[in-house]
Amino acid sequence: MIESLGMLTIWRRHTAECPHRQKGRDYLKCNCPVWADGYVDGKRTLRQSLKTRDMARARKRAAELEDPDIKPRTLKEAVEAFDAHCVSDGLKESTLRKYRNALNKLREFCERRNVIDAPEVSTDVIDAFRASRGLSLIASSKELELLRQFFKFCLVRHWIRENPTAGIRGPRNIQPNEVEPYTPAEVDKIVAACSTFGRTDYERKRACGMILAMRYTALRIGDVAMLERERISQDGNRWRIFLRTEKNGKPVFLPIPNELRFALNAVPAPRGAAPDCRFYFWNGTTSERAVKGIAERALAAVFKKSAVAKAHAHRFRHTLATELLGAGASFEEVADILGNSPEIVRKHYAKWSTARQARIDTLMDQVWAQNGHAKKKGLQVIAGLG
Ligand SMILES: [Zn+2]
Repeated sequence: MIESLGMLTIWRRHTAECPHRQKGRDYLKCNCPVWADGYVDGKRTLRQSLKTRDMARARKRAAELEDPDIKPRTLKEAVEAFDAHCVSDGLKESTLRKYRNALNKLREFCERRNVIDAPEVSTDVIDAFRASRGLSLIASSKELELLRQFFKFCLVRHWIRENPTAGIRGPRNIQPNEVEPYTPAEVDKIVAACSTFGRTDYERKRACGMILAMRYTALRIGDVAMLERERISQDGNRWRIFLRTEKNGKPVFLPIPNELRFALNAVPAPRGAAPDCRFYFWNGTTSERAVKGIAERALAAVFKKSAVAKAHAHRFRHTLATELLGAGASFEEVADILGNSPEIVRKHYAKWSTARQARIDTLMDQVWAQNGHAKKKGLQVIAGLG
């Protein structure tokens, strides 16, 4: 029997081994590949494989073929195309790895449920996938952003009809990570641990350079691990480190104390490095991931030796940020140094800003003064009026 879906006719292209071969292409009860023919005004305008032997999937694909707005892809093809797009966009290797991991998990999840084509991925499937992931709120929210981006990529290419993540609300009210700067005594303990942990001078001098670099520049550990020698330069009688170029094109140079400069100068050439190696800690040949891993393991050993509770590389960023805010820096200035947006800095560090507190106090004093109340006693006076 002939099966038609709108203007498409689907049929089986029998293989040479098919026992039903003689019954013709309209015999559908075998397991041969399914094809589709399209007719307009009795003339065939299309013949193509539906790339499946599964009749239910073939019908879905045929229906999608008839939809002029959709050029369906399998989820696997879409994930591969998205990956190629990210690579050509120059995304960092670490970001690419995160994306690949999450999207491959999605693909495997869908394939286990027999969801093969991208248009078949429904909001229900995404909900179930997200529920299966067991991620923290922050990680889950980040992964949802990636899924949105991926399906938007598919949508604008007409591979799907609608974005299955469109109706999903991300987690609300995610608390920013608690900011816990080190006390000066804790910093001293960590610096001291650099010269007693481990076994060799090589690892101790490297650790000392890395710890002091994080202490005085707030660079992330990955950036410290790949620090280039040419980023330290002399400017009159100051030494500076080039941190980065801001999006507005302005370079950020941070003054550094001699303590850091001497510690970096004392760092031995990385093992396996060429004589003219451009880096303090990296030999320039191992992968970025490997050098970061080496740095993380060394610092973990230093932190353990220091016995400082909850010591972590990231807390050096919090420490410098809160010190700057305590000295009256604005959120914008701290953002320039940390390489974050002022919004992020405000979100994480609002309570650490003495300048902000002082401004709030001054503003309130002015408000009360306008109302004829005595300065500083404003709160009591107003309370007394009630
Ligand atoms: Zn057959």
